[in-house]
Amino acid sequence: MSDVKRSSPTPRPGGPDTARPHTPGPTPLTPLPPKAEPHRNRRPRGDPMGTPTIESEEHRALRKAVAALGSRYGREYFARVVAEGAHTDDLWSEAARLGYLGVNLPEEHGGGGGGIVELSIVLEELGAAGCPLLMMVVSPAICGTVIARFGTEEQKRTWLPGLADGSRKMAFGITEPDAGSNSHRITTTARKDGEDWVLNGRKVFISGVDIADATLIVGRTEDARTGRLKPCLFIVPRDTPGFGRSPIAMELSAPEKQFELTLDEVRLPADALIGDEDAGLLQLFAGLNPERIMTAAFALGMGRYALGRAVDYARTRQVWKEPIGAHQAVAHPLAQAHIELELARLMMQKAAHLYDAGDDLAAGEAANMAKYAAAEAAVHAVDQAVHTLGGNGLTQEYGLGSMITAARVARIAPVSREMILNFVSHQSLGLPKSY
Ligand SMILES: Cc1cc2nc3c(=O)[nH]c(=O)nc-3n(C[C@H](O)[C@H](O)[C@H](O)COP(=O)(O)OP(=O)(O)OC[C@H]3O[C@@H](n4cnc5c(N)ncnc54)[C@H](O)[C@@H]3O)c2cc1C
Repeated sequence: MSDVKRSSPTPRPGGPDTARPHTPGPTPLTPLPPKAEPHRNRRPRGDPMGTPTIESEEHRALRKAVAALGSRYGREYFARVVAEGAHTDDLWSEAARLGYLGVNLPEEHGGGGGGIVELSIVLEELGAAGCPLLMMVVSPAICGTVIARFGTEEQKRTWLPGLADGSRKMAFGITEPDAGSNSHRITTTARKDGEDWVLNGRKVFISGVDIADATLIVGRTEDARTGRLKPCLFIVPRDTPGFGRSPIAMELSAPEKQFELTLDEVRLPADALIGDEDAGLLQLFAGLNPERIMTAAFALGMGRYALGRAVDYARTRQVWKEPIGAHQAVAHPLAQAHIELELARLMMQKAAHLYDAGDDLAAGEAANMAKYAAAEAAVHAVDQAVHTLGGNGLTQEYGLGSMITAARVARIAPVSREMILNFVSHQSLGLPKSY
């Protein structure tokens, strides 16, 4: 599917604002099953970004096929799942069966052999149809990438086919109550006890732990030579003794819940450690660029969905002589939101292509910028969409009000707007640090 060639990754250690290395494996992508959908030359109503022109035919076909799947579920399905306190299992399974969720994972382990370019298309299009799958950011993008690149053959065989076919999910836990934006400060520690590892610590705001078969936990082990703590990644199965979780009451309308985790003498076998104990930082960073690119895709999808609803409404809502969309005070902010989303998408595409091509340094900068731009664009688009609908912007029937909170997630997580501005100040502009 992707015609980019991947080179060997180059480790680039550093802090939370450092460029990340990339994923392995140049393999052709399995063709995706075509979806029956009538050909249309014009853009679908209500989705002004429906036909991007700078993508390959294959990527456009993927976009179209995923959009068709999303439209069969749509916002009503998503809202119903949230109202029932259920999960998006049907959509998850079908998307997986069609090859969309494992599109970035290696073919030899059941994936599509593509990259983050393809995976971000899938998430963006599902979001634009009103049914984003947040767990795509963590399960195939972070965890799948890290295991595919650094896992032992046994870990790959154990996890990747299930992540690709949707039968298994993984969550990702790095954030801690006393570390937050400063991931250098995490204190979850792993000590060796015979062949086993024993983990102790706390995590917070970890998404989807209840529906994940395991959580990829970022901990630290002591370097025998220096005594300094170095990051390591551990696969912690959901029901491991000592691995406690309690849901956090969030003001979010989403099927995925966030959890506070306690790790109290969690005993894990030696093979719970991903790859090499000394390559922890490299492994961690391998997952963080896809996380940012996928968060951009998540935000773009949401922004597009909201803008589409607002454009539909502005075309037909008439309280004076013309529909409200004829008033420039209504139309211009929507046009502006559209431009911002398009620009953010360009940056996301750049980041994804750089990442898949193995240009780690440039991908790190672009992924951060894409996440920033997409989050800001989504927040503006949702805000303007709600305003365009007047009172209906806050009714449950139109379902846009709750997106005001949802859109802000992309501004906060996985790395906040300010930390990206710090990154750009320091890494791109060479300005001094204040911390
Ligand atoms: C819905 C949701 C889902 C999440 N899912 C996951 C998950 O699955 N896994 C996971 O590990 N984490 C997850 N997170 C956590 C998320 O990554 C963190 O919330 C985020 O990194 C910010 O950390 P914090 O909340 O501790 O904020 P803090 O670090 O306390 O920051 C608070 C504010 O201070 C600002 N700030 C902090 N330091 C600086 C500085 N040096 N300069 C300028 N401003 C600064 C921040 O930008 C922010 O606005 C999730 C969060 C949310 C809201």
